[in-house]
Amino acid sequence: MQQSEIVQNTLERLSRESMVHAMRIHTTVRKVLGDFFREEGFLEVPPVILSPLTDPLNHPVFDPVVTYYGKKYSLTKSMIFHKHLLVKYLGSIFTFSPNVRMETEDKKSSGRHLWEFTQIDVEKRDATREDMMRLVEKLLPHLFREVKSKNAQELRALGRDLPVPETPFPVIKYLDAESSRGEDFERILSKEAKTPFWIVDIPVMKREFYDRMNDDGSSTLADMDLIYPEGFQEALSGGEREYKPERIRERIKLKGQTEEQFSHYLSAADEGLPPSAGFGIGIERLVRYICGFTRIEDTHPFPKIPGEFSL
Ligand code: AMP
Ligand code: MG
Repeated sequence: MQQSEIVQNTLERLSRESMVHAMRIHTTVRKVLGDFFREEGFLEVPPVILSPLTDPLNHPVFDPVVTYYGKKYSLTKSMIFHKHLLVKYLGSIFTFSPNVRMETEDKKSSGRHLWEFTQIDVEKRDATREDMMRLVEKLLPHLFREVKSKNAQELRALGRDLPVPETPFPVIKYLDAESSRGEDFERILSKEAKTPFWIVDIPVMKREFYDRMNDDGSSTLADMDLIYPEGFQEALSGGEREYKPERIRERIKLKGQTEEQFSHYLSAADEGLPPSAGFGIGIERLVRYICGFTRIEDTHPFPKIPGEFSL
């Protein structure tokens, strides 16, 4: 694509009325999320952009590495390890964390992936998965009510009738969902659903090493995904964390990863890490759901679409 065409496309996107509506809704979403967690006693911490330590993820992405005075840094894919270190000292934390995950171009057509996005990343010391599920069930209806009241005009212009869900949200175990609907269960169940729902107890090899293994010998994790209804799919992932050094080492080995990759985290774990639980909600996916957009790029003025060049 010619440079002039890229600039024209960007200006066209910025000038759309729907982009202005999305940004007004985005403004409400950030305010309500921030206020909610502050009122719940969470401390807002600054994001980490570059670090030798970042999320290994459970799927392949390109991995840009920056060298600074001979030391290598990755761009943050999530602040999972920083969150765990922080709650030891601060108790309950949240941050609006920009993540760079250079997704492969096959994700371009999903409507759900950007290679630069922001998540509100939340963690609480001594909390359980269930504590975090209850917190999200308090947050989402409150947020949707606030958006419906503050952004009634924008929702009307977008033709979106945003439902406020009842709580608690339905819960289905990963293996039950898979056996009832097959491999593509998340998409199918999301299409069928009228309300957000939880998928829990995800098999150990489907997620990263830091989610805590259930103690029932089932090889499932004490973790969860929240799935939006109407076909919008994953809203957030979260769970309890492994905190005992020997269990963390076992899980790194099980995933075929090396201790060297996570040496800083392991040293901190040897000093003692607390039990904790948390989750991360993708802001652009949340705004997409609220707006009822088919494509995530309509929520971002400068969207990084997988495989594409972008300003
Ligand atoms: P994860 O812990 O990897 O599930 O990421 C936390 C949340 O961030 C997900 O549940 C999504 O809401 C959001 N997210 C993850 N990857 C992307 C992406 N490539 N584009 C937009 N949002 C994403
Ligand atoms: Mg996830």
